[in-house]
Amino acid sequence: MTVSDQSAQTVTFAIIGTGFAGLGAAIKLLQAGHDDLVVLERADEVGGTWRDNTYPGCRCDVQSNLYSFSFAAKPDWSETFPSQPELRGYLREVAAQYGVLPHVRFGHEVSKAVWQGTAERWLISTSKGDVAARYLIAGVGALVEPSLPDIAGIETFTGTIMHSARWDNGWQAAGRRVAVVGTGASAIQIVPSIQPAVEHVTVFQRTAPFVVPHTNKPVSGRRKRLYAAVPATQRMSRVTNYWLRELLAIGFIKRPKILKRAEAVWRRHMEGAITDPATRRQLTPSYDMGCKRVLPSNDFYPALAEPNAELVTEKIIEFRPDALVTADGAVHQVDTVILATGFHVTDNPMFGLITGRDGRTLADAFGETYLGTVVPGFPNYFQLTGANTGLGHSSMLLMIESQLRYIIDAVSKVEAAGGGPFEVRPEVAAAYNAELQRKLPRTVWGSGCSSWYLNSQGKNLTLWPGFTFDFRHRTRRFKPAEFSIGES
Ligand code: NAP
Repeated sequence: MTVSDQSAQTVTFAIIGTGFAGLGAAIKLLQAGHDDLVVLERADEVGGTWRDNTYPGCRCDVQSNLYSFSFAAKPDWSETFPSQPELRGYLREVAAQYGVLPHVRFGHEVSKAVWQGTAERWLISTSKGDVAARYLIAGVGALVEPSLPDIAGIETFTGTIMHSARWDNGWQAAGRRVAVVGTGASAIQIVPSIQPAVEHVTVFQRTAPFVVPHTNKPVSGRRKRLYAAVPATQRMSRVTNYWLRELLAIGFIKRPKILKRAEAVWRRHMEGAITDPATRRQLTPSYDMGCKRVLPSNDFYPALAEPNAELVTEKIIEFRPDALVTADGAVHQVDTVILATGFHVTDNPMFGLITGRDGRTLADAFGETYLGTVVPGFPNYFQLTGANTGLGHSSMLLMIESQLRYIIDAVSKVEAAGGGPFEVRPEVAAAYNAELQRKLPRTVWGSGCSSWYLNSQGKNLTLWPGFTFDFRHRTRRFKPAEFSIGES
């Protein structure tokens, strides 16, 4: 496909996406006085992952006070861990309150973004016309594009089949015979939400997760009033949660053996709900705790123990119009299949649509990203929640806000130097990535399990192998010496 630039709308900044990342970028640019910006959003509403994941039971596993912008506290969160509908509402409110909505172009699906060296700008093709921008900021999210299993006959299934992130809100659980494929963060929330209503649910598990107690509870009216009257009390709660979670990072990053002790908490939790020895064995992970994401839920194990639930660990080998067949020859009759099978993370198809200098796409260069934010060969480009910015222990908002500060500093320095184009020096990015890849194998994520943190070559391009304050420190200033500015 060629990109035509005859009718392109020209702006200084184009942002892709209206999740926490894209909205945050727009807010910070507006606050810094840059109002010549558009935000391209394929849907008709803001919210990113918290708009798209509408499955029953969807909730964040980081506390509300920490999983929100530091500059936009919400004193009246109704629960200590936010549910999807409340997070979606929060993002709508923030977008309106900070004046982002007039800049959002809804229904604009980006099909391509190409750096034009001669014109020194990005040309972005969308489903509703082209946009030319001097700076491109991608807030396209890491957990966006559903990963669907490649199982024989899947297309022949005649019942309802849906991915967890493409939930059919018209679907009724009552009286259904359901297969849930997967036992990750999404599945462990879906299963207990539908189990009481369905006739039967079969959960197909490939790898057992560590599921630990959840501490979510309602926030009292008194506490909400206190947060509203004395905002410092809510900030104190945020700071407490922040440091408790940074302590957890010691186990993930520095001393994986500490997590071994936490396995006792998991075992008590699992054995408290599951009495059958064979099921207990099926639910016992065979890797070190923390290597895959640790999942909080109080009702997943109890739901599996109900008479209308069944756990299957045999491999699914075939779909039939009304059933799934497993390797032991068993035929599991169902009318609904829920694919809670995760996302394309390190191979997000969006990366193939962004083309930098010399015709390389972000898919080719993703592993060369510096500070998760800038990429050699991609002038005037910023990536939010880019390579190695993910966290196993705390709120992504901490990483996003660090990136936003860095971007605003970068823009002000690049503009002061004449406006660019700017590009990170390849040797700076290479040294940085070599350092990360030296550290990552020594973390718990390098302890030998297979997870979506790793790419197809087994390289962890997803997680930040440090404390969040390390990342904040590394991104506190844009250092012009690490970049070529105005040279291309
Ligand atoms: P996920 O963690 O990648 O889990 C996918 C599940 O599907 C895994 O159990 C996986 O098994 C299984 N699976 C994948 N392909 C399969 C196949 N072909 N056959 C059988 N099983 C298959 O995806 P997710 O649950 O959607 O969660 C993704 C991430 O989103 C989370 O880790 C988290 O970061 C975020 N999230 C957060 C929350 C929250 O805050 N509470 C909620 C939902 C999602 P294997 O383990 O063997 O690969």
